[in-house]
Amino acid sequence: MLDYVALEADLDSEERMIRDTAREFVDDRIRPDIGTHFEEGTFPEGLMAEMGELGFFAPNLEGYGLPGVSETAYGLLMQELEAGDSGIRSAASVQGALVMYPIYAFGSDEQKEEWLPKLGTGEAVGCFGLTEPEHGSDPASMETRAEKDGDEYVLSGSKTWITNSPVADVAVVWARDTSADESPVRGFLVETDHDGVSTNKIDEKLSMRASITGEIGLSDVRIPEENVLPNVSGMKGPLSCLTQARYGIAWGAVGAARDCFETARAYASDREQFGKPIGGFQIQQQKLAEMATQITTSQLLVHRLADLKERGDLRPQHVSMAKRNNVRMARDQARIAREMLGGNGITTDYSPMRHMANMETVYTYEGTHDIHTLILGQDLTGIAAFE
Ligand SMILES: Cc1cc2nc3c(=O)[nH]c(=O)nc-3n(C[C@H](O)[C@H](O)[C@H](O)COP(=O)(O)OP(=O)(O)OC[C@H]3O[C@@H](n4cnc5c(N)ncnc54)[C@H](O)[C@@H]3O)c2cc1C
Repeated sequence: MLDYVALEADLDSEERMIRDTAREFVDDRIRPDIGTHFEEGTFPEGLMAEMGELGFFAPNLEGYGLPGVSETAYGLLMQELEAGDSGIRSAASVQGALVMYPIYAFGSDEQKEEWLPKLGTGEAVGCFGLTEPEHGSDPASMETRAEKDGDEYVLSGSKTWITNSPVADVAVVWARDTSADESPVRGFLVETDHDGVSTNKIDEKLSMRASITGEIGLSDVRIPEENVLPNVSGMKGPLSCLTQARYGIAWGAVGAARDCFETARAYASDREQFGKPIGGFQIQQQKLAEMATQITTSQLLVHRLADLKERGDLRPQHVSMAKRNNVRMARDQARIAREMLGGNGITTDYSPMRHMANMETVYTYEGTHDIHTLILGQDLTGIAAFE
């Protein structure tokens, strides 16, 4: 596996173990039939429980059965899962960073005790409802409302593009609390079997096909006030979850790019034209050299991010830079790998075009490339250019 400047030489034994476990899982459980799942638009059945059993959900948190592994170990896990498929990494990211993290960081003791153990094992599946049909890049303009009525909240509105909503047991729904001054955004734990909740599946995807995506309809859904995440108010709630998930995406994209590179390198050694392997032609070597360089510089960035995160110095803008750079990098490398595979490259028999299609989603979700550009622009100049 490409590790050109020997970053993995510095891993400790736990980090190696997690990397190897995830790599083996991807080889045994994902690679054999991910092409079929991608074609059919299905997520492998029973995989959430298997991933839970292997400790793939939020292992960087500690307590409630979670081991508190290093941020490097967590990143390596995301990298290996996305080398399999972005849909598999997305499932783990959403469960860990977007559902378990907000409950862990902002939940009551009762909420943590109720949800974290079963989300950790995959016995329960969660989803994260922020995006709405009319509000994607600008979630602060959300229209979903929660109105207090006695000791209950009544939620109404709709969310869309929600990973795993059709198979989720619980949704972390972000809504404006219209009973409080200035209607702050609050997080609500909504069980999906509640009256008034619907979770239609979105079928027409050409990207991230081995991942379930859906809507969340909320039609006067009554939930007890104990289901509000008590310890956060305002957009910092959802945004801090997104920082966690984007950190994992920056690592994951490197895995997808690496898988494209390894596929192209192997193909270039085997495939002969004009009497020799295509890897013997300068044009193909230039492509491999460029891919290896881009992947290596992206790896360096996420390893540095892990150190900053570990010592509490990671800023959301650092994560924006890495998400923006590494996903664009992976999107570009997937296309180059695909072209090196010639006609075979357009099939599901090889991974690059699947990764290429997936990267269109990864480029767009969790803050589009453009939005991360604006975040960096604001950080670098002090002037916001969003509006
Ligand atoms: C497969 C998939 C899974 C997803 N999973 C989830 C999930 O689990 N939970 C969730 O809440 N959401 C999820 N999303 C939604 C995702 O986060 C949004 O699609 C994303 O935030 C972009 O919003 P939008 O699609 O409405 O695009 P828009 O915000 O409408 O953007 C359209 C275009 O305009 C550009 N643009 C917008 N504003 C500006 C600006 N100020 N300046 C310059 N350009 C701008 C954008 O960069 C983009 O190119 C998912 C999306 C997909 C595709």
